Amino acid sequence: MYKCARCKEPIRSDMNSVEIQCEKCGSKIFYKDRPNVRKVIKAR
Ligand SMILES: [Zn+2]
Repeated sequence: MYKCARCKEPIRSDMNSVEIQCEKCGSKIFYKDRPNVRKVIKAR
């Protein structure tokens, strides 16, 4: 599961798709929602 880096909204979109965007704030920066692992993802 991923979360929006800006508003913390859970992202349900397919992360394999090229164009992903937060449904709430439109941000394209996300991080993996895992304990001890925070990998920031930048969508192109
Ligand atoms: Zn957001």
